[in-house]
Amino acid sequence: MSGVVGIYSKKRNNVSKVIYYGLYALQHRGQVSTGIAVNNNGFVDYFKDLGLVHEVFSTEVMERLRGNIGIGHIRYATIGDTTTTNAQPLVVGYKRGALALAHDGAVVNFEKLRDELEDQGGIFQSQLDTEVIPNLIARYHKDSVEDAVIKALETIRGTYGLVMMTTDKLIGARDPYGVKPLSLGKFGEDYILASETCAFDTIGAEFIRDVEPGEIVVIDENGLKSINKDTKGKRPCLFEIIYFARPDSKLDSKSIYLSRINAGKELARESAVDADIVIGAPDSGTIPAIGYAEESGIPYAEGLIKNRYVGRTFIEPTQELREQGVRIKLNVLKENVEGKRVILVDDSIVRGTTIKRTIEMLRNAGAKEIHVRISSPPVLYSCHLGMDSPNRKNLIAAQMSKKEIKELIGVDSLEYLSLEGLLKAAGGEEFCTGCLSGNYPIGIR
Ligand code: SF4
Repeated sequence: MSGVVGIYSKKRNNVSKVIYYGLYALQHRGQVSTGIAVNNNGFVDYFKDLGLVHEVFSTEVMERLRGNIGIGHIRYATIGDTTTTNAQPLVVGYKRGALALAHDGAVVNFEKLRDELEDQGGIFQSQLDTEVIPNLIARYHKDSVEDAVIKALETIRGTYGLVMMTTDKLIGARDPYGVKPLSLGKFGEDYILASETCAFDTIGAEFIRDVEPGEIVVIDENGLKSINKDTKGKRPCLFEIIYFARPDSKLDSKSIYLSRINAGKELARESAVDADIVIGAPDSGTIPAIGYAEESGIPYAEGLIKNRYVGRTFIEPTQELREQGVRIKLNVLKENVEGKRVILVDDSIVRGTTIKRTIEMLRNAGAKEIHVRISSPPVLYSCHLGMDSPNRKNLIAAQMSKKEIKELIGVDSLEYLSLEGLLKAAGGEEFCTGCLSGNYPIGIR
């Protein structure tokens, strides 16, 4: 999972500032690195580095990045090390022009393609699966870049929300199953593309529609052109609804917030238990916890407080501080949980380490009973479609039964939402459920 933004403007020469705030809104989709590329009168300029949006772009850099077309990326590492060479956008120059490209997703057949391209003299600068795409476009570009993009996307197998920029066009593309999100908006007279609609709200742009699965949109001085080439039906990632996306976004016209509230309500209907309070594991457990409380009639309370200012690169505590129980990320609101029968709602259990620590903290704060309710089914399979999910051997639900997990984390009861319940909450059947069911729209090989 990563985040992308692209904008085409006929008049504005400072699109990088719009991209900056769009990326800022998408920061939850990746914190490893960020970058912006702009078209400055036919010259592609860019800046990218490791870190968060506000850490990477100084006022001087933003002043330098002038142009009327631009794309931006924030990276969540699925493939490749944490290095600047693996930051996006990727910017390439080739015989027929220049291209900048930013990708959210995964190219499943990249090893084979890279091998073939390298055999033909192709040069790669990063470890990214993404890099085969600009290589293929450069190779296929004869008369029109659109045709080259179509051919390149037909050659790769995988998932993508892509934004690409030439010196006179902004191009957006969504994979044939629509596993990855991409939305289209208008910012005054200008077209804008973003992974999530919350980016439009942040900058004051208007949401127009989602880019359809398999659709390519080309925006230039003649306006917007849509090419539908390779639609295979809709299978958007269900984990966007459960966890990834911001609750104030709409994906495929569905409100993430309402889907999470509904998941909490379904969970309360499926797995009722008597208790004094419902609390949520911050942040993505909070909304289903509210839904659970509404449906069950058991009051919702704040039970866990998260430090919102912990970046990725905080200094690890010393052993002494760790033993003293230093709570860097999360602390318990003892006033609310002491002596209470607590229902703790979380969005998912992946490795099981976070929830185990949270339960210990709740016990130490005097919770009398702890009932864990998970607003998604057990994560049983790894994802090869763009989420950095652990190998199956590290997925706790793939290795242990529900009873064993309940005992390991030390709770009075543990229940998951059923897949049927989650799909009902999300408002449809048409989702990728690979990591929950083993049924992926795109195979590994
Ligand atoms: S396997 Fe899971 S995380 Fe990966 S795309 Fe499908 S639903 Fe999303």
